[in-house]
Amino acid sequence: MNRYLPVLVLVTVMLFALPGRAETKKYCKICKNTGKAPCKIHAEHPDTALCSFRLEFPCGCLGLGWKPCEKGRDIHPEATAAAEKEFEAERAKLEAWLQGRRQMYDLLIFGKDWKKEHCQHFETKHFRLVFTLPGEKIFKIKVSPHQRLHLYALRCEETFSMFAKLMDIPESYLPTTYGKWQVLLWGKVDQELKASHKMVGNTQYPLATGNARLLTICPFSTLDGNPVQENDDWLHHHVVHNIVHLFFEEWGGWVEGCFPMWFYEGTAHWVEYYLFNRVLAHCTDEAGELIGARTDKWERLVYKMIKNGRDTPLPELTFVKMQDLDFRMRLKGWSLVDWMYRVKGPDKIREFVKVLKKSKNEAKAWRDVFGIRIDEVDELWREWALERFSPRNLRKLEKENEERAMKFVEHQKELVRSLPR
Ligand SMILES: [Zn+2]
Ligand SMILES: [Zn+2]
Ligand SMILES: [Zn+2]
Ligand SMILES: [Zn+2]
Repeated sequence: MNRYLPVLVLVTVMLFALPGRAETKKYCKICKNTGKAPCKIHAEHPDTALCSFRLEFPCGCLGLGWKPCEKGRDIHPEATAAAEKEFEAERAKLEAWLQGRRQMYDLLIFGKDWKKEHCQHFETKHFRLVFTLPGEKIFKIKVSPHQRLHLYALRCEETFSMFAKLMDIPESYLPTTYGKWQVLLWGKVDQELKASHKMVGNTQYPLATGNARLLTICPFSTLDGNPVQENDDWLHHHVVHNIVHLFFEEWGGWVEGCFPMWFYEGTAHWVEYYLFNRVLAHCTDEAGELIGARTDKWERLVYKMIKNGRDTPLPELTFVKMQDLDFRMRLKGWSLVDWMYRVKGPDKIREFVKVLKKSKNEAKAWRDVFGIRIDEVDELWREWALERFSPRNLRKLEKENEERAMKFVEHQKELVRSLPR
């Protein structure tokens, strides 16, 4: 027996050393030897945004769509080690970013109890978002808090694109004076109140904007804490309207009192109306009631206002303060911006803003940029508006607007469906 033993050992060794067998053992089915084991939830749709939810994903993949392959470590030790290094670097990056955000917002607003508020954070090219909103049904699609945060990040960026279009500035523009624009979306009334107080210095409810840089908002009723009507639509409108204010304030640097109020409101109404084909947001309660009560489209109302000689002459309108800006003045402001944009071009709006910021003198801005006196504007605008909004053109125009608004809703639905899980 003993003399056959070496042979037996040799045969056994040879059997295991056969090339085919060895190769099957070296192949890891989980990760295909990449060292990265795919995540069932995120492999197809990874989440690589600067998004704090990623650190809490139950799958533990940080949204990358893979985790270091532990089970195949013996087969591909180097690949697993490399994947681990990459994974940990990503986690470290996210954690360092989040720590900075927590100090800037959570701690500053809520003090030592900040952890109880469970703030989530997000960062895009132009925005920083802070978020405690619950999930919501949007276009009948169930949207989780995480998805809703992504949705608002996308919506903010798209509103910036509209601003770039209205001003004819490149989308590569970055808000350099004060850093990125900040949008704080709160799920509780008291969070909004604390944030307004700490970040803006006043507790105007249910939203507050801080000069040129920050919007804090909460879509819940001040009386009972219940969601406002048309919760997500309301929020979307108000975010759009108010960040347009922030864009105009920031661009070219913050200059206190540089804008006539008709222009300041008119531009925000213009973007809101262009996207939604209706206006929900307003910056005074008096105007708000009127806006809410009117179902007529703004084109129709402008036409009627001019026909009846009820628009405030521009040389007067220019001095009207925010709290005195009534519904008709807002209508006129919106239509003047529309006229500037469509007839004179967005580059003229940009130049108008430039001169206003330099001189705080509207008459000078009209003269320098448009080559007309401020008391000549009304006649030119009225003539154009009466033609454009004439009963003959109105139906066609309204149809165009409706179609654009429908496309916008379709686009919003697509956004909602494309959100990462
Ligand atoms: Zn995310
Ligand atoms: Zn995952
Ligand atoms: Zn593997
Ligand atoms: Zn406003």
